[in-house]
Amino acid sequence: MELTQKKRFKAGELIFSHGDSGDCAYIIETGRVEVFMSSKSEKVVLTILGVGEILGEMSVIDGSPRSASAAAVEPCEVVVVSREALFERFEAADPIVRLLISMLLRRIRFSNESKAQFGGLLKDELIPGNVLKKQKEEVLERLKMEAELKEALTGNQFNMHFQPIVNINDGCVAGFEALIRWKSKSRGMVSPDIFIGIAEETSLIVPIGRWVIEKSCEQLAVFQKELSNSNVTDELFMSINVSSRQFRDTDFFTHLTGVVKKLNIKPSLIKLEVTERILMEDAVSLHAIKKARELGFHIALDDFGTGHSSLGYLIQFEVDSIKIDRSFVRKIQTDQKAFIITRAIVSMSNDLNIPVIAEGIETSEDHDLLNTISCKYGQGYLYSKPMPSDVALNYLIKNLTEIL
Ligand code: C2E
Ligand code: CA
Ligand code: CA
Repeated sequence: MELTQKKRFKAGELIFSHGDSGDCAYIIETGRVEVFMSSKSEKVVLTILGVGEILGEMSVIDGSPRSASAAAVEPCEVVVVSREALFERFEAADPIVRLLISMLLRRIRFSNESKAQFGGLLKDELIPGNVLKKQKEEVLERLKMEAELKEALTGNQFNMHFQPIVNINDGCVAGFEALIRWKSKSRGMVSPDIFIGIAEETSLIVPIGRWVIEKSCEQLAVFQKELSNSNVTDELFMSINVSSRQFRDTDFFTHLTGVVKKLNIKPSLIKLEVTERILMEDAVSLHAIKKARELGFHIALDDFGTGHSSLGYLIQFEVDSIKIDRSFVRKIQTDQKAFIITRAIVSMSNDLNIPVIAEGIETSEDHDLLNTISCKYGQGYLYSKPMPSDVALNYLIKNLTEIL
């Protein structure tokens, strides 16, 4: 905390009064302070605070006037904590923590007021009551989902689906993207768009991410075995989505390298898919991306074009492939701008020698158009939806025999 200034108060001196605006809080360094409410006829002491305790923070956080008065019981020295210093931290806190603080403040204020038989003070609350109720329900729902996600991992409710990524000019499968699926007992199929975010906010993404890596690598080994029985000499890659939170796990690379070693997989056949956003905000991830490449793993820049992308990042940080987001690909037939942007990304990437994967190809017209602009790889429902492992293996076998 930025501790700006100190103040002294004589015995009996008021520090703040009921109804004042809360522009700072105080930490007691010496002496004691009583917090009280008073009306014409009586004074109710709510609490006596001593050295090391904080007072006046509630109004600072929720912006409402002081709901009680405070006075020095004996000569006191206090450290003044500015509104900015406290508020900055409150704003930066996790939304759940903020909501809990708001709920607690509300409860404390109500109980203080009833203690002193005061009423109607709760006007400028940080979060109004009805909004609070809705947010409380959302928080409870989130906490519930978190608990269920934990259970999902131990209860075998996750499985991996694999979606082929094909060479656009000859239709051969070049690799697969591993996509997680959650079959919840109570909710049915839950989209990763919903639960990955929650897993990322907690540390649950770490064990889930490890499980994803293990299953995806095991499946790549199965695919490779199939490939070795065919005449196809090209190697298949496996794309695995990685969140920035996983990179903060100090054992991430020990685990990943352990898995590929055990399965005898070349690191260059593992593409770690990271979003553009990671490149922009997260120094830990940037460091991890460099490390991944040093260890021989490939990096694919996912959802390209959707972040606040700066092309400078492509110079600063080497990536091994770029995935053009579905939102562009979807519109290349109908929206001239989307087509021009897609063509520019492909052309730039080809010049930089970075292979491009177009996501979300749903029609043969999209496929043909992307072929004419020399987009190397494609992924989308046109080729196949994500499939369970056995179906994906059959798809691969069929694709291999079609080529022969
Ligand atoms: P993403 O990485 O952009 O994955 C592609 C998403 O597009 C997948 O959705 C895929 O099913 C969908 N898709 C593929 N082709 C088409 C198409 O032609 N049309 C349409 N409309 N959609 C298509 P999915 O599987 O629901 O995954 C959603 C997101 O969840 C992923 O987006 C990724 O960000 C995240 N995700 C999925 N699996 C994992 C995982 O194992 N780990 C992490 N960290 N994130 C994951
Ligand atoms: Ca992806
Ligand atoms: Ca994507």
